[in-house]
Amino acid sequence: MARILILLAVVLGVFWWLRSRAEARRHSAPRRSAEAPRAPAATHPEAMVQCAHCGVHLPQSEAIAWRGLHYCRRSHLPDDSGAHS
Ligand SMILES: [Zn+2]
Repeated sequence: MARILILLAVVLGVFWWLRSRAEARRHSAPRRSAEAPRAPAATHPEAMVQCAHCGVHLPQSEAIAWRGLHYCRRSHLPDDSGAHS
């Protein structure tokens, strides 16, 4: 019975060692450029919005949302004083 436990421990140890080795190799291998030569934009599809002031398109995460509209920069926000229109 003790021999079975030792054998099991050895098998588990080898298995764990192989796994950690494969993981370390995956982390250290500089093969990402060969596997994914595309731009990050292709792998990260993001909703594009249009600036309500100048009409430029930009990712929604970079846009400033204001009253249901999007703007590319703070200076393109409509004048909040209400003097116009
Ligand atoms: Zn703009």
